Amino acid sequence: MARYVFITGGVVSSLGKGLASAALGALLQARGFSVRLRKLDPYLNVDPGTMSPFEHGEVFVTDDGAETDLDLGHYERFTGVSARKTDSVSSGRIYSNVLEKERRGDYLGKTIQVIPHVTNEIKDFLRVGDAEVDFMLCEIGGTVGDIEGLPFFEAIRQFAQDRPRGQCIFVHLTLLPYVTASGELKTKPTQHSVKELRSIGIAPDVLLLRSEHPIPEKEREKISLFCNVRKEAVIAAPDLKTIYEAPLAYHREGFDQAVLDAFGISPAPRPNLARWTDVMERLTQAEGEVRVAIVGKYTQLEDAYKSIAEALTHGGMANRTRVKAEWFDAEIFEREDPGPYLEPFHAILVPGGFGERGTEGKIRAAQYAREKKIPYLGICLGMQMAVIESARNLAHVTDAGSEEFDHDSGAKRFTPVVYHLKEWVQGNHIVARKLGDDKGGTMRLGAYTATLTAGSRVANIYGATEIEERHRHRYEVDIAYRDRLEACGLSFSGMSPDGRLPEIVEIADHPWFIGVQFHPELKSKPFAPHPLFADFVRAAVEVSRLV
Ligand code: GLN
Repeated sequence: MARYVFITGGVVSSLGKGLASAALGALLQARGFSVRLRKLDPYLNVDPGTMSPFEHGEVFVTDDGAETDLDLGHYERFTGVSARKTDSVSSGRIYSNVLEKERRGDYLGKTIQVIPHVTNEIKDFLRVGDAEVDFMLCEIGGTVGDIEGLPFFEAIRQFAQDRPRGQCIFVHLTLLPYVTASGELKTKPTQHSVKELRSIGIAPDVLLLRSEHPIPEKEREKISLFCNVRKEAVIAAPDLKTIYEAPLAYHREGFDQAVLDAFGISPAPRPNLARWTDVMERLTQAEGEVRVAIVGKYTQLEDAYKSIAEALTHGGMANRTRVKAEWFDAEIFEREDPGPYLEPFHAILVPGGFGERGTEGKIRAAQYAREKKIPYLGICLGMQMAVIESARNLAHVTDAGSEEFDHDSGAKRFTPVVYHLKEWVQGNHIVARKLGDDKGGTMRLGAYTATLTAGSRVANIYGATEIEERHRHRYEVDIAYRDRLEACGLSFSGMSPDGRLPEIVEIADHPWFIGVQFHPELKSKPFAPHPLFADFVRAAVEVSRLV
């Protein structure tokens, strides 16, 4: 049976609960324990799959095909443990399960209520897989006191009661604001937040306090006294220069020790922090810098491409260089020549995306990279755009396009070199879908195997001819165009095992031009940079040396 750590937040949102949870996971691993991390989100969307990246940041896809919150990406990047469908849940999903059971008559005509039906559903979710790990770390989204979060707080309170004593602890993350006029850190908001938590029956075991300044002993004592938390368990969560500093910084402040103390695990196994000292060494000892242009759509919100930004950083770490990523709204290149914008860059990346807006600009960016021999990495839509570009400008399919754009506009304006996928093979069975299906969950989602051509650039990069990567898309490059495109130099060097679905394209006669139908960024870790990103950055470094 796993021990449970519940991580909640108070005072304000966005204090970094996800990061604190992920760092704690890494620290427990460093002490030899196995962990799994979970996210419970209070919003009413059934999953984040249909939420706009502008509002919610990136949709993180797991191996088993769940569309989840970007916090699961942090969890994976810090622990290397692959998240599953059962590691992320929203209020919407919980209510939808409860209502489905009600319609099926599972509750035998009982009146359905938040307590116990909704809370039981949440507790069932928490229990999944608890025999597999030493620690289950569960982060509750939002802040204490939010109306929609209440059932989650009630459920975790009950959960701790149901378990044997000492099997569950509560970590609460708050803010200590600094008032410049008086030169003081203020503890009152934290006191109120803890009071709120206690009023729903949860007493925190560990307090994690975000503050821009070190916490003076006097304030620490005051918080300990007023919040009824042991002084050693009042932990400072300092501002960090990089997120990857979190495990070492939180360890220094005594976070993992406080958690183990709260469980009464004594003596605590000594931590081996070599992985994180190496990560920090690579980050801080980097020499030089390469500039990568990212030509996308959701460029106003950095979180919209979170995993790509992180994977580029990891790629830099593999090459001991810094990567400076700059974001361009692809629509600019529909009006203006991309040349003057892209010329100062050592590499160009076109990420995934949905819908037609900006796609002509992405096609022009791909053309620029191909013609000027700048390293190009096209991810998902970025691969599709590169294929359309070659089809139009090399293979004379002048009106090449994607069915996605015709579907969006209702017209037939393009020759669909990228078409809507109606069925595909997953493992041993065929999955079939119509466009009319629900918007959520009609995509090829999750991990699929690809077979790489021996001797191709990608096979060399991966050092393998069979790989597994995560997908999230509806449309596919049509193999009907394979021969014509290969004759022009765009080779299909990665295919689905049945040979029907192009997974990777590359141009041999180019310093580095690769398009992938999947999302390699989702599997990159600071301590294990993804080979494609590592080699992409290496190619960028080479370009930077030439200029
Ligand atoms: N919109 C494209 C498709 O559905 C690409 C999706 C993506 O980039 N994730 O196939």
